[in-house]
Amino acid sequence: MNAQSKREMTNLEPRPSSSQAGGLRPGDEYLRSLNDGRAVYMDGQLVKDVTRHPAFAASARSAARLFDTAADPSLRERMTFVSPSSGNPVLRAYQIPRTHADLKAKRLASETWSEGSFGMIGRTPDHVAGFFTGYAAVPEVFAAGGQQFADNVVGFYEHLRENHLWATYAIVPPQIDRSKPAHKQTDPTLYAGVVKERDDGIVISGAQQLATAGVLSDYLYLSCIHPLQPGDENYAIGVALPMNAPGMKLYPRRSFALQAANSFDYPLSSRFDETDCFVVFKDVFVPWEHVFIYRNTQVCRDQWWRTPSHAYGNLQAQARYATKLRFMMGLAKRMNEMTGNDAHPQVQVQMGEMAAQVQLVESMLEAQETRATIDAKGVVWPCAKSLYAIMALQSEMNPRMIDMIRELTGAAMISLPSSLQDLESPETAGDIERYMRSANSDARSRIALMRMAWDFIGTEFGNRSQQYEKFYGGASFLVKQNMYRSYDFARGTAMVDAALNLPPEL
Ligand SMILES: Cc1cc2nc3c(=O)[nH]c(=O)nc-3n(C[C@H](O)[C@H](O)[C@H](O)COP(=O)(O)OP(=O)(O)OC[C@H]3O[C@@H](n4cnc5c(N)ncnc54)[C@H](O)[C@@H]3O)c2cc1C
Repeated sequence: MNAQSKREMTNLEPRPSSSQAGGLRPGDEYLRSLNDGRAVYMDGQLVKDVTRHPAFAASARSAARLFDTAADPSLRERMTFVSPSSGNPVLRAYQIPRTHADLKAKRLASETWSEGSFGMIGRTPDHVAGFFTGYAAVPEVFAAGGQQFADNVVGFYEHLRENHLWATYAIVPPQIDRSKPAHKQTDPTLYAGVVKERDDGIVISGAQQLATAGVLSDYLYLSCIHPLQPGDENYAIGVALPMNAPGMKLYPRRSFALQAANSFDYPLSSRFDETDCFVVFKDVFVPWEHVFIYRNTQVCRDQWWRTPSHAYGNLQAQARYATKLRFMMGLAKRMNEMTGNDAHPQVQVQMGEMAAQVQLVESMLEAQETRATIDAKGVVWPCAKSLYAIMALQSEMNPRMIDMIRELTGAAMISLPSSLQDLESPETAGDIERYMRSANSDARSRIALMRMAWDFIGTEFGNRSQQYEKFYGGASFLVKQNMYRSYDFARGTAMVDAALNLPPEL
């Protein structure tokens, strides 16, 4: 067993003790909190404890490391800021930026977290934290439905912030029949919506997709980002639910961690399978203080676009994507070095094209900060044009990058032994060591790299990851509409008009 997998087995990573954590939530405390009776179903069975189930245990440990990183005293400045209410260090993700430097600091904290999974975990706690921070920055949007809703959303944001909590979200209706609005489905309780109002709160039934990291989170935010129509008021809600809310069931997709025989052959699937959960609600009660939007299609829409929520959440998504692209370039470079193709001019041209795309993403990330604007209340809004430009291109750029890596590697990711055991069996080890090495490395190191590349590109984990890059921010036709709304067409049309009105020269 190599040192890496030994560490996996024994969990020997240094962790901050509770006293060093400065009141932040260390990973072991987070792990204990997951065993709270949440209803997660896998293969038709209720999962008793997600931290012990093989489908989720390793990703829960990966998530726990995020909290350890945040609680690490040497990263206090990077990962936290001082709470305006308690004076304690709290997660940087919950900071409402007041300066461009604050926004950059938020991005750097997201980068540190994303580096912990090489960009593989998309919905780290800072993603939905960005949305709630955006809501708390402009609560007037929620007050349009009644001041109590603005107070509720700010109160809940503070609860998340002060307790270092992780919320995920399910904001897309199930794909049952998209040709009809929510209220015209064959059964009005198919899409998640209000079925009853009580003095002390509301009752929700129906289903919503797709709570990535739902199994690993503390809270679910249930709302709707799809356009709603008159008559859809029951579905125009924004509510927070603890993951163990009675009546709420999580149906995670097939686990890739379960298919990973070991961390050598499946280095990414075995560690970073964040799970995507379909969520079903059966008469789930929500107390009023956790209701932020109630039967209001306008507020339901405005929460995304008239607050900086979508921009803060997706700043994290882009910081994470840039990290993943850097990792992708590192993989490609190491593979070229191993096969001895690195100096080939044509290979360098391909690598140069890929590097140009990665640099584009990194520069657009910085442009969201440097071109950010400050509103009348002093809140910094990332530059929407820079954000949506890169999100709009991502769904086409990512498959092109993946295809170029496939091209660069030929059969390198396939002409490998069936598993780690071939390297260890005396009957096969000799052949493997002799023929599967490269000029500059032994067989074990070469196979480890190629297995990682295959897990990145070709396994179910790798393919889901590509689906994620296409859809995490909505289908690309929607993202392009965001870009359309953000772009300043007037500057271009003014030039065209001026050109048409030039005085005659001839
Ligand atoms: C891996 C993964 C993780 C995700 N994580 C989350 C999460 O954490 N939380 C969450 O809420 N959601 C999440 N999502 C869901 C995501 O938000 C949706 O998949 C996304 O919004 C697209 O919606 P849809 O899947 O319903 O696709 P649809 O809206 O059904 O679109 C599918 C395709 O149909 C075509 N199409 C449909 N309507 C039109 C139209 N009007 N005009 C033109 N073409 C059209 C397009 O080709 C489009 O790409 C995740 C999705 C994936 C794949």
